[in-house]
Amino acid sequence: MAAPVMEQEGVSEALNRVWGFNELRPLQSEVVSASLKNRDAVVVMPTGGGKSLCFQLPAIVTNTLTVVISPLIALMKDQVDSLSVVGVPAAALNSSLSAEEEASIVAKLRAGDLRLLYVSPERLLLPATLNLLKQGRGVARFAIDEAHCISAWGHDFRPEFRLLHRIKEAFPGVPVQAFTATATPKVQRDIAIQLGLERPLKFVGIFDRPNLTYRIVSKDDTVGRIAEAVGRYPDEGVIVYCLARKDTESIANALVARGISAVAYHAGLPNDVRRKVSENFAQEKVNVIVATVAFGMGIDRGNVRCVIHECIPKSMEGYQQETGRAGRDGQPSECVLLYSHGDVLRLKRLLAGGDPHHLTLLEEVRRFATSHECRHKALSEHFGQEYPVSEGGCGACDVCTGGMKRLGNSQAVATRILETAIALSEGEKSFGVGVLAGVLLGSRVKMILERGADRAPGFGAFASEEKERVSSWIHQMVDLGLLQVSSGDYPVLSVTEAGREVLETGAEVSLIENVALVRSVKATGTELDAVSEELYVKFRTWRRATSAEKGVPAYVIFHDATLMRVASIRPSTPENLRAISGVGDKQAAEYGSSLLRMIREFAEETGAGLDTGATPVIQSTKALPKNGSYADHFEAPASIEDICRIASVKPTTVWGHLATWVATTKPKSIEPWLDAETIARVKAALAAVGGTQLKPVFEYLSETVPYDKIRVVRAFLETES
Ligand SMILES: [Zn+2]
Repeated sequence: MAAPVMEQEGVSEALNRVWGFNELRPLQSEVVSASLKNRDAVVVMPTGGGKSLCFQLPAIVTNTLTVVISPLIALMKDQVDSLSVVGVPAAALNSSLSAEEEASIVAKLRAGDLRLLYVSPERLLLPATLNLLKQGRGVARFAIDEAHCISAWGHDFRPEFRLLHRIKEAFPGVPVQAFTATATPKVQRDIAIQLGLERPLKFVGIFDRPNLTYRIVSKDDTVGRIAEAVGRYPDEGVIVYCLARKDTESIANALVARGISAVAYHAGLPNDVRRKVSENFAQEKVNVIVATVAFGMGIDRGNVRCVIHECIPKSMEGYQQETGRAGRDGQPSECVLLYSHGDVLRLKRLLAGGDPHHLTLLEEVRRFATSHECRHKALSEHFGQEYPVSEGGCGACDVCTGGMKRLGNSQAVATRILETAIALSEGEKSFGVGVLAGVLLGSRVKMILERGADRAPGFGAFASEEKERVSSWIHQMVDLGLLQVSSGDYPVLSVTEAGREVLETGAEVSLIENVALVRSVKATGTELDAVSEELYVKFRTWRRATSAEKGVPAYVIFHDATLMRVASIRPSTPENLRAISGVGDKQAAEYGSSLLRMIREFAEETGAGLDTGATPVIQSTKALPKNGSYADHFEAPASIEDICRIASVKPTTVWGHLATWVATTKPKSIEPWLDAETIARVKAALAAVGGTQLKPVFEYLSETVPYDKIRVVRAFLETES
């Protein structure tokens, strides 16, 4: 066994040579180190945390074989593809292989030429496979992916995973590490017990995904809501999840009718069609997929910008996993859940008679979706982690950003709706949401006049309101259980016991205003200037073509974030290109000349400078006092970006220090950090809104100016007065 220092050097060297990264994230580093020490482990690493590196690196560093057990052929194929792009010998043993392909893998295994072997649980436990793995140099370690499937307490139990306890019997002393993206503490313990792990180390990553904005909207116009969300992300990856196969097709068709090229995906489609859809999505030929949850496992497209749930998911774990497919590259992305109480009832009927545990899991999601608590906080706490919400909120969920606002006169509105519904139900004819809304709006359409409903009390009570708004209130009251809708082709509305109680006791009702949504603006990712953006768009076109030509997913060629860095730095030489984070040896050798040629042509056409992105940064860094205080940096004045780099802190930390510095030193201007227009807009908003709260100012500015900047402007204005 190599000494720890040697190991560390080996890890850094392999990481840089193969992937072009300079360092691992702290959790990855701990997991890799445990693996190199041959320890059993349970690793819970949320999507986007870089889970696969944790079991790939030890195999490369030690030149041994790691067997990865995975439930999905598509996922194995993707990982093997990614590894071969970066030059690591890997293979997958599964039923899709021809006899020759299989023989070639067996030969490589016997010769000790493979670093990673992917295999399904069933395949692994065949006597022939077990024997094969005991030959030659044998297996150095096992990694079990999607390990939550072993626990009946999880959301995705698979009986074949239960048999994996046999690994420890067949390979005593060989370390086993279990990986999953979602597991509550209870499921984590169960995984260790079921697998018979010995003194397992436990690593749990941070569940919160700060680059995701969560929104829950009422499902009053399904296709309209989906189209609205998709429209915020033109030409970018969007996944719409539906509960039923038939919904995927009808919604995809409805989106196409609205001019959005959406494609349906579900397990009932022929294999080759499904393969083609996945491939086109990975190669960015198709951007909008309407799918059942069968889609996405193993789809590793990192630049999915929006995940929409057309129906409430069956568990929080499922929700975390599915929304986790958005923004894996760390760029701002959005998750929209369309909620309706009707869907909850529909699911309950489907689950009735089965394992009662599933109803508990559903109830947890229902509570999450109907609560008015910060979504980031609720999700983190579900997985047993604290999430302190700062003043002004998380800035990335509907609750905190005012996407959900309590309707001021909720009580009066609810009372009026209930009274009208009772009056209507006392008449002879049954009625639905449409009639109730029409009566409240004072509509004189035939359907209402026929029933004499224009004489009902409450007729025209909301005559000055918009129809959508009134319908949304009625739907919310159904969601709150104050009204109920019967099933069948002509759903009939009625007032529930709880609804009557509100009228009798005046119990509090909160209705929500849906505020116009804007594209997720939380600034956590790379921001490109216009010139770099233009080059980046060219890179993406090139990547799409290359990905189709090579038959590999676009992200395995280069991640978005890497291409963004290349576009803004615009290296002129292979060395400068190779120095950029995310560009490994093999990628540089294979695609470097194409990128450099595009950069050169672009520079000639547009006059854009080369090696520019990097140069000013280095110069201004040098001009700053080393290890200087924030005050020194602000006086320089250094840009927020530079200070982040020097001090290795997040932008929000620097903005916080800037606000304090502005308040105490009273500088003449804050224009080194904020443009005059932003300052003027915030100034106007502060004057218009008044008070000391930042949230109303943020909302007044339609969420276009982050809290950090508002704080600095406020501090500056206070020094002026
Ligand atoms: Zn929040």
